[in-house]
Amino acid sequence: MKDVLIVGGGLAGWRAAQAAAAAGASVRLVANGAGNSPDIHALNVPVRSDDSAELFIADTLRSGRGACDRALVETMCREAVALADEFPFDRLPDGSYKLLQPLGCSVPRCVTIAHRIGAWALKRLRSELAGRVETVQGRVENLDAAFSQARAVVLATGGWCGKYPFTDNPPELRGDGIDMAVRLGAATRDMDAVQYEPTVALAPQRLRGIPVITTMLYEGATFRNAAGDEFLPDKHANKDEISRAIFAEIAAGRGVDGGVWFDATGVPRETLETVYADTLERYAACGVDIVREPMLVAPAPHTSLGGLAIDTRCRVLRPDSRPIPGLFAAGEVVGGIHGLNRIGGNAGTEVLVFGRIAGREAAAFAGAQK
Ligand SMILES: Cc1cc2nc3c(=O)[nH]c(=O)nc-3n(C[C@H](O)[C@H](O)[C@H](O)COP(=O)(O)OP(=O)(O)OC[C@H]3O[C@@H](n4cnc5c(N)ncnc54)[C@H](O)[C@@H]3O)c2cc1C
Repeated sequence: MKDVLIVGGGLAGWRAAQAAAAAGASVRLVANGAGNSPDIHALNVPVRSDDSAELFIADTLRSGRGACDRALVETMCREAVALADEFPFDRLPDGSYKLLQPLGCSVPRCVTIAHRIGAWALKRLRSELAGRVETVQGRVENLDAAFSQARAVVLATGGWCGKYPFTDNPPELRGDGIDMAVRLGAATRDMDAVQYEPTVALAPQRLRGIPVITTMLYEGATFRNAAGDEFLPDKHANKDEISRAIFAEIAAGRGVDGGVWFDATGVPRETLETVYADTLERYAACGVDIVREPMLVAPAPHTSLGGLAIDTRCRVLRPDSRPIPGLFAAGEVVGGIHGLNRIGGNAGTEVLVFGRIAGREAAAFAGAQK
């Protein structure tokens, strides 16, 4: 019998494993794929002198359209501050942080490591925990099986956007954790809330389903319809507003093969070559020069915003708000943090903060059962 079983091998799961192992728990992690976490490009940490946890909280609550759980948001934004001491985020030659400003943030707040902080962090966690956490490849199908292996269970199974036909998520992300917990009496919230990524590649075929980063909008990119006319001039629109504007353009018959043009030809070449080198190179490898040509994109389901109801200790709650003993959850499987609209970069912050809390709490619960 293990102390803690973690279901899910994304960043929420590995972060939970790290915290549980650090608390002295024996840990098994089961996963049936890599999930979305290797694709995390950047995440939000208030590192600038004109930024703060309070401003981060205000931005997150405003972007969530009044549907966020304030206590969860406050926990995420306050605990995010310490991430700057833990991770070697990229810096500019003058020593300041290399930052992007996601849609919905009042100031630049998005930090990264080598453009792929998700893959970087996963690699570090796997190597740090090698030999200390037992890993098993496979799919967990019900929580009775999970609780027969461990005193406490952490659900870190990600969201359900893999169910949609046009999505940037892998197909194994089908909301399994929500399904299993609901069968045990868990409450859910905001299950109709899904974040669409406005700029997911429709073509060329090799790039279909891969998103193009929206921060390019701040640097001179724009949307164009079939006639080449610019629409959505508001560069500070949120992702949900952008997606709706694109769908409206398509519905009005001004789309292109089910999408619209995302035109980065107005972004300075130097910016494309440095800040957006990965996008530039990805398209160049398919014969598309985004310095001169627009990209064909459409909105696609990207992040589940709703999910399991939890408290700030990551305990999974019943409809009457009582926790289900021994059951914890973190990451995209939970709801309440992003409300109806997630700020780009907030998922990465969420998984690091709440993954750690879930692992720590699960270890404490298991310890008390011995
Ligand atoms: C293309 C893309 C780019 C993104 N970029 C960013 C970004 O730059 N910044 C940001 O903040 N957010 C970003 N996001 C969102 C972010 O990636 C996710 O919200 C986050 O990674 C979720 O982490 P997680 O650990 O909760 O789930 P995931 O990383 O999705 O991991 C879920 C894990 O659970 C496993 N699993 C599922 N069901 C079962 C089961 N029944 N049994 C066993 N295992 C199971 C999966 O195989 C996987 O290992 C992006 C999303 C996508 C799709």
